[in-house]
Amino acid sequence: KLGNATAKAELGRAAWKLLHTIMSRFPDKPSADERTALQSYIHLFTRLYPCGECAEHFRVIVEKFPPQVSSRSAAAAWACHVHNEVNVSLEKEVFDCSNIGDFYDCGCADDEKAAMG
Ligand code: FAD
Repeated sequence: KLGNATAKAELGRAAWKLLHTIMSRFPDKPSADERTALQSYIHLFTRLYPCGECAEHFRVIVEKFPPQVSSRSAAAAWACHVHNEVNVSLEKEVFDCSNIGDFYDCGCADDEKAAMG
């Protein structure tokens, strides 16, 4: 099936953006509850991702590389890695995960510290 490649790519970009931005805001020292929440989120994301073929590919990748939820940096590195696994399978460029730190900005820095204007 050909499907609609433009819609699929747009969905992918939106989904990756949300996933990486969630990781960029995950606590450095998550509580047990926060770890469980991220674990569940990833599980449900994998299960409910609307492109069925993509979800199936991704499920195999996540089985091979279990989600890392012990800290922000571990979670962000995990998401970067599995996105790169998808990039490789689609013959896209591999992203340098050492640059992930400042790349995803939620526009909500004032939640963390007092707004500096
Ligand atoms: P995207 O891969 O969407 O990336 C968007 C931007 O994120 C890039 O421009 C770059 O700035 C940044 N980026 C790139 N790599 C990384 C990384 N490793 N870490 C952090 N940031 C990065 N499409 C298919 O055709 N077949 C599939 O099986 C398929 N499976 C998918 C599974 C999932 C879970 C998701 C979310 C998407 C899937 N897609 C699939 C869509 C595909 O991954 C792309 O989103 C889509 O092809 C658009 O690609 P893009 O080149 O615009 O960049």
